[in-house]
Amino acid sequence: MLSEFLEQLQSWAESHSLLFGNDTAAYCVDQRRRYQGQTLAVARPNSVQQLAQIVQLCAQHRIAMVPQGGNTSLCGAATPDQTGQNIIISFERMNQIIEVDADNNTITVEAGVTLQQVQQAALAANRLFPANWAAAASCQIGGALATNAGGVNVLRYGNMRELTLGLEVVLADGTIWNGLRGLRKDNTGYDLKQLFVGAEGTLGLISRAVLRLYPLPTAHATALVAVDSPADAVTLLRDLQAKVSDRITSFELISRPCLDLLHQHFPSLQSPFAEPPAWCVLLELSDGGNSEHLFEQLASILFETGFADTYVAQNQRQATDFWRLREHIPEAQRLEGVSIKHDISIPVGDIPEFLTTCQSNIMLQYPDANIVAFGHLGDGNLHYNLFLSDKTALIYQQEAAINAIVYQLVAHFNGSISAEHGIGQLKKSTLSQYRSSTELLLMNSIKQTLDPLGLMNPGKVLI
Ligand SMILES: Cc1cc2nc3c(=O)[nH]c(=O)nc-3n(C[C@H](O)[C@H](O)[C@H](O)COP(=O)(O)OP(=O)(O)OC[C@H]3O[C@@H](n4cnc5c(N)ncnc54)[C@H](O)[C@@H]3O)c2cc1C
Repeated sequence: MLSEFLEQLQSWAESHSLLFGNDTAAYCVDQRRRYQGQTLAVARPNSVQQLAQIVQLCAQHRIAMVPQGGNTSLCGAATPDQTGQNIIISFERMNQIIEVDADNNTITVEAGVTLQQVQQAALAANRLFPANWAAAASCQIGGALATNAGGVNVLRYGNMRELTLGLEVVLADGTIWNGLRGLRKDNTGYDLKQLFVGAEGTLGLISRAVLRLYPLPTAHATALVAVDSPADAVTLLRDLQAKVSDRITSFELISRPCLDLLHQHFPSLQSPFAEPPAWCVLLELSDGGNSEHLFEQLASILFETGFADTYVAQNQRQATDFWRLREHIPEAQRLEGVSIKHDISIPVGDIPEFLTTCQSNIMLQYPDANIVAFGHLGDGNLHYNLFLSDKTALIYQQEAAINAIVYQLVAHFNGSISAEHGIGQLKKSTLSQYRSSTELLLMNSIKQTLDPLGLMNPGKVLI
């Protein structure tokens, strides 16, 4: 049966579109090198028709499929299990930008186009595609949609769900569903595309997407502001929102341990602070008009708010340097060693209390913990990571106990245990504790309807 499947797959495929054996190694390990799987083969279709043929063949032979984009998932969502009985479907050859419609402010792309390519194509048409995060050069639109990824501009523009107008999806039996509409108003029944956004490839394979573009802001003002506490950061956010409304594009909170890690692992990245503050905020405003005006407005607002240790970037180069600090935090953590990571969200106003209480709860049981907290404060999303004195994978033995402390408090504030990275393999067993039985029943019945044979990315999210 298996040999028949492989024979048919090979007879269908162009020689360069299938990979076997050692050539599949890089596809079988996740970004954090926490999950290692095996696969029968990596199939790399270059059109929706080829993709649909592979899915049909897999359905016929009951072979499970693991969709993979840029493989930057932080929760093992794109890594196969260890049975070696699945195939990986890589979208790297479905990498065409199909159309930029400047009048409609939309871009239509294949799933394997990287986020950075979409940003650049939009820019070439004098438009903005606002989604952005540190993996932009390697993550793909299909992966970004399948994880409903967020990033640093969600405060103003929303996450991938809000940036999506239409999708084309290959369903579990190989049927192509064409929902590639570029409409901002369309109330014709259920909004089917939203089922596939954030489903982590467990309901169908996204082959193409119509995404929203925005007018390109011509003015930017970026600042690093030292604050005494997260409560001060929330006050600053509130003040800024009152004064400049939705011109705040990003509002990132960074704790002192992040600056220490940056100093240790990237000494060439200089922060402007003479002394690293306990907390700081990296914020950006953007608008039409000119940057000089926005700079002056931001400088005067920050002066009025009374935050003394404040640096407004004097030019684009300095703004880029500020952002480089933020973007290097994940890599600095990786270089430091193994940590227990949480990607959580809670209502913005509750974040200060969460941080204080969580720290004391953790310190009671783990007095050696170094808490590295940072994230998209403007959207209530924190990356709340812990190092213990042992920085090897042995600390995963403490993971369940540490997660319980963090997640119980998250639940207390009616928050989420996965704000933007998804569930994947990492949080699959935790999900059922933090979503109600009614929600889980609904999710399982959607899965059963769209993937009755359980072939779409098995072992992720639900089963
Ligand atoms: C340095 C770094 C910074 C990051 N910062 C952020 C951040 O700020 N915000 C954020 O949200 N995420 C962030 N991430 C996580 C990651 O980049 C995003 O989740 C990204 O969108 C995943 O895209 P990918 O193409 O790499 O997907 P993959 O990792 O390949 O896959 C992710 C999931 O999508 C599925 N999938 C992939 N392609 C398809 C498809 N065509 N159809 C259906 N399912 C598919 C996979 O099966 C898997 O479940 C970061 C990651 C790194 C490494």
